[in-house]
Amino acid sequence: MIKFNKIYLTGNEQKYIGKTIKENIFKGNGSFSKKICKYFEKEYNVKKCFLTPSATSALEMMSLILDFQPEDEIIIPSFTFVSSANAFALRNAKIKFVDIDPKNLVIDIEKIKKAITSKTKAIMVVNYNGVSVDFDKLNKIIKNKDLYLLEDNAQGIHAKYKRSYLGTQSDMSCISFHDTKNITSGGQGGALFINNKNLIDKAYKVYQNGTDKREFLLNKVDLYTWKTLGSSNMLSEINSAFLWAQLEKIERITKKRINLWDEYYKLLKPLEQENYFILQDIPKYNTINAHLFYLFFKTEDMAKDFKLFMKNENIQVFYHYQSLHNSKAGKKYGISLDSNKISNYASKRVIRLPLYTDMKINTLRYIVRKIYFWRKNYG
Ligand SMILES: *Cc1c(COP(=O)(O)O)cnc(C)c1O
Repeated sequence: MIKFNKIYLTGNEQKYIGKTIKENIFKGNGSFSKKICKYFEKEYNVKKCFLTPSATSALEMMSLILDFQPEDEIIIPSFTFVSSANAFALRNAKIKFVDIDPKNLVIDIEKIKKAITSKTKAIMVVNYNGVSVDFDKLNKIIKNKDLYLLEDNAQGIHAKYKRSYLGTQSDMSCISFHDTKNITSGGQGGALFINNKNLIDKAYKVYQNGTDKREFLLNKVDLYTWKTLGSSNMLSEINSAFLWAQLEKIERITKKRINLWDEYYKLLKPLEQENYFILQDIPKYNTINAHLFYLFFKTEDMAKDFKLFMKNENIQVFYHYQSLHNSKAGKKYGISLDSNKISNYASKRVIRLPLYTDMKINTLRYIVRKIYFWRKNYG
């Protein structure tokens, strides 16, 4: 069977984990954790990096740092992972779902403009496959408004908006190191990036169970006490050791994936012109990280037929997000600007193809041949 995803190992994972065991620091914030955050703060120009047990916990930190209250609204796309909404619904915030752009499945800026009210406390954009909104354009829209801009950059590591890495265009962002993403900390892991320095102090407290443990460790107070809402948000050092083995090879990993992505694109573009599906249109301002490759079919039936065909060919393909505004919890905790038509289409018509760092070009070409074969026999 051709698998949808396979974890890529760089070869240094065991060595670094062994080193951590020797150093006898396990709880996090050891030498590998520090190295990783230093990398993001230097290379990406992030003001403050916190490693977390998942992107989900980084999102939950954001909602505690901004102190969301029941009447506060956050605008997010409906076509995203559950955590983007769940983190804020946990604070009883009102989630306002907005539709996506059919060309690349990223939140539609014109709709954000319509969705903003006096109750809007934050907007969270989701970078899909390393594609983002046009931040310059969005910043013009929100310039004189009293609200925060957040980025769910869970899948966007090493992708860029113009010359900057994604995750740095907002007040706060997250990255995921789950084993389905481009690099992993060995299962679960994530990071919170703070770019607005006014939020750093609060972030330290939320990171360490709502306490002033940081001041305690800096010998500024004799005891640390409970100051605000928080949780246990630190990534274990073993996971950081694993992650460093991957992060130090990020250039190579990203390049390999982009090569594969480009090959898919080149080979499948002719079929797009035949009206079966559309491919993601990458804006000029983005450099993607080739996290995923999808086909957005013209009809739901076509997508269903294709999925079944690939199953019979032993090639693993998957749908993606199911629009949140239609979900049971989405209806309870959210409101919608409009019908979110494109998100509904995307839920039923977007199919992702196998793509992993070490995929052989011949495997990819074999998959493409099967897609051409499907096309020939469809309908
Ligand atoms: C993967 C993903 C998440 C969740 O990441 P975890 O590290 O598994 O919590 C959140 N949002 C988006 C857009 C994702 O792709």
